[in-house]
Amino acid sequence: MRSRYFEANTEEERISIFQEYFDRDIETFFTSSISCCTECHDDFRAQWPGTVSHDLELQYGHQTVDDFIEQSRIQDAFHAEEIEHYSKFLECPNCGATLDRDFWIYEHPFRVPREFFDQLGEIAQLASRTPFLLLTHEFAAEVFEIILGQAAKVAPALIEGTLFRSRRADGVPNPMLQDFGAPPSDKVPEGRYNHAAHPMMYLAKAKETALAEVGSQGARFHVAEVELLSPFRVLNLSSLGEAETRAEIVFQCLARSALCAAPRLGEGWTKREYVFTRFVADCARHAGFDAIEFGSTKHPSGTNIVLLEPPATLDGFAKLLTIETLDL
Ligand SMILES: [Zn+2]
Repeated sequence: MRSRYFEANTEEERISIFQEYFDRDIETFFTSSISCCTECHDDFRAQWPGTVSHDLELQYGHQTVDDFIEQSRIQDAFHAEEIEHYSKFLECPNCGATLDRDFWIYEHPFRVPREFFDQLGEIAQLASRTPFLLLTHEFAAEVFEIILGQAAKVAPALIEGTLFRSRRADGVPNPMLQDFGAPPSDKVPEGRYNHAAHPMMYLAKAKETALAEVGSQGARFHVAEVELLSPFRVLNLSSLGEAETRAEIVFQCLARSALCAAPRLGEGWTKREYVFTRFVADCARHAGFDAIEFGSTKHPSGTNIVLLEPPATLDGFAKLLTIETLDL
């Protein structure tokens, strides 16, 4: 086959040159080297739910190989018949499968440490087999130390703005502030940050997020807008933009990976996907934090705050601004 620039190269060399052009153009177009194909997209989403659901401005979503090549610089370096032929040999930069149709582009706004990929798997296994022994893992031990260190840097402060909490309207025709407190301990199953029978209070920073978190279609909900009256020491695990120090990188890994951002899987009593977040909550409580701020898995760009030890009564603790009743 005639070639614009690579007449002297063998067929095998041309295949890898074409792949190099393709990978290079992905990097320069998207400043990203993470592209996933139909084969590995689901795995990537499962490992990095925080990256997939947040930073939407950094995601370029779904592309087809043909559309991408058409607008890339590959056009200038190869004849049409070369493109037609060599694009059949393209491999997914992420998993190596043949890249024949669609792919997705993602980007982490920080450099994920190499070793973290193995650690993610090891921790998932520990969390599932022997959750009380998480601290024996070096990454878990590092998380514990970093949270302790962070506590020394965070002073108690009033939470800016109002917060939202929603609950089903069934059986509560005239809701009052007290109806939005943490549930009684005998009604508390494992949650993202709380152990079973440990009531914590989950709030959202926006009404839409509060509704998305409870979101069963067809049901009626009350949403309260409140202001918290006391200062809190908040551990911030919501997506943090750039990360440079080791602590910032570890927090980013927590916020974005399946360790802390796994979506809720089922309605059962035990929720393995929450083992590591409950470990983080234990670290935070031990370190003296009152609350954890974290990204919503249900509402892109939404942020939640969980109060680790809410009081039994909200009177004097929170100021009620509005209660709205909505049918989803
Ligand atoms: Zn792939």
